[in-house]
Amino acid sequence: MKLDFSAVGQKLTARSGILELMDDLGRAMTEQPDMRMLGGGNPAAVPSVQLLWRERMATLIADGQSFDRMLGNYDPPQGNPRFVRSLADLLRRTFRWDVHPENIAVTNGGQSAFFFLFNLLAGRFKQGTFGKILLPLAPEYIGYADQGIDEGMFVACRPEITWPNGPESRVFKYRINFDEVAKTLESEDIRAIAVSRPTNPTGNVLTDDEVQKLSDLAARQKIPLILDNAYGAPFPNVIFTEAKPFWTPDVIMTLSLSKLGLPGTRTAVVIGPPDVASAVTAMTAIAGLANGTIGQQLVLPLVESGEILELGPRHLRPFYAEKSHQAQAWIREYFTAAGVDWAVHASEGAFFHWLWLRGLKISTKELYERLKARKVLVVPGEYFFFGMPDDWSHRHECLRLNFSQPAEVVREALQIIAEEAASVML
Ligand code: PLP
Repeated sequence: MKLDFSAVGQKLTARSGILELMDDLGRAMTEQPDMRMLGGGNPAAVPSVQLLWRERMATLIADGQSFDRMLGNYDPPQGNPRFVRSLADLLRRTFRWDVHPENIAVTNGGQSAFFFLFNLLAGRFKQGTFGKILLPLAPEYIGYADQGIDEGMFVACRPEITWPNGPESRVFKYRINFDEVAKTLESEDIRAIAVSRPTNPTGNVLTDDEVQKLSDLAARQKIPLILDNAYGAPFPNVIFTEAKPFWTPDVIMTLSLSKLGLPGTRTAVVIGPPDVASAVTAMTAIAGLANGTIGQQLVLPLVESGEILELGPRHLRPFYAEKSHQAQAWIREYFTAAGVDWAVHASEGAFFHWLWLRGLKISTKELYERLKARKVLVVPGEYFFFGMPDDWSHRHECLRLNFSQPAEVVREALQIIAEEAASVML
């Protein structure tokens, strides 16, 4: 029987970048243990943090009542009331943000939060208008690309490429081109500005100044600024540079437990204006009744004590900073030896290096296939440049490399990528 899928069904089942990525990631992890996994966004196994979650689970089990309640009851769709209250208290107490329970909605992971937020704020409106989400700096997170139920929901701006320590350092940094952003705000019907900070795929951390400017621009347009803190502050805080956590009553901030080592719990939080938080709550009820309880209960005492803010600086940041540093040294060694023209984005946070193979003659999708055949999985850069015209060669020259896997895996993979790059570039 060949079923005819609805327009929405077809949109959500089209072969998307995120589907391909998650499929390869899942298959490689389960079926090909010898695959060198530099694709995907899986957090690393950080032993001290794994131990913490094991101990928390043991405590819950030992106190049978808490465990039974956690597994045996639906929470309200907004989230567990005690978790929501203690998170609001923590943010008020620590950052003096005017956050109260009505500003908060828990979701089944950040990915679901963005699906709700983008489709809530943009797309076709009853008045016949079509509103869009502005991504002020492409490349931006692949996971957003296919989330719009309506086609053409994103418009992205080309950034400036800067060389903080000179081009000979081969380390570049994207900066927001505010002229482009201003022009786009004028020429398009923009309903929200969205950025990930740190940025997936590049590891870029928008400067405090850039965030303030975006917030001012959004406020002037009377639209929200959405800040995706999947890797950012206040937690998990996998940030290697100085960056102030930022929130105002017009900002919609998302936080996730995934990069604290809990992606399996599918738990994230939206913190924004009360009408947005209650809209997200309503969407959770319709799409899934309620949220998973396990993540919220695992972290609850750490939210109440404030310890959740220490996990990043104490355990995650040093771990990932060391991995980033090591991988960058190998990139420098292997790509220089290979004799190709390479550069890498400044690694300011998250788990990825963004490698720029300058003058690459094949698409990065082709390079991805060649690497997969040599048991190295990466993510082709093209996927991250959605919402903009295809007239920029740079978008066909970059790869995202997750550096969180064991050192030997990363080292071998980088060596193979350098060899393959040389074979197609020289
Ligand atoms: N936002 C960014 C920038 C991400 O990298 C990810 C996951 O890798 C997410 C959101 C979604 O994460 P989750 O659904 O696990 O909370």
